[in-house]
Amino acid sequence: MLFEYNKDSGVIEDILDKTELLAGKTYFGYCRNASFAIWSGTNFVYLRDGTVRGTYYTEELPHPADDDGTDVFVPLRNLNPLNVICFRCLHMYDILSVPRTRIKRLKQFEPECPKCACRIYFS
Ligand SMILES: [Zn+2]
Repeated sequence: MLFEYNKDSGVIEDILDKTELLAGKTYFGYCRNASFAIWSGTNFVYLRDGTVRGTYYTEELPHPADDDGTDVFVPLRNLNPLNVICFRCLHMYDILSVPRTRIKRLKQFEPECPKCACRIYFS
């Protein structure tokens, strides 16, 4: 099991605490509609598909500690870093922790090298 419920507090263990989060950083985890979100300092923000093709809107979700009964984003600690080497600058980085950006005219968000923003890598 990657995570377990803490029976005393009711909060899942092995998730990142609010004090460990940095505003503006992208975190991997889970909620009903997304597998990564950006911590704004008070809430997690993520992009969601709009009703019209190619449109997006943002939604905010609280940390599990501020559960209001609807949905929460659970930021998971990265237990297995997946290191890759950039094709252009040979910088080694963890592909699961780098920011993901969307290429123009593509729907998919893809990880990019933190040094040169190249998206091609050796795995
Ligand atoms: Zn690079």
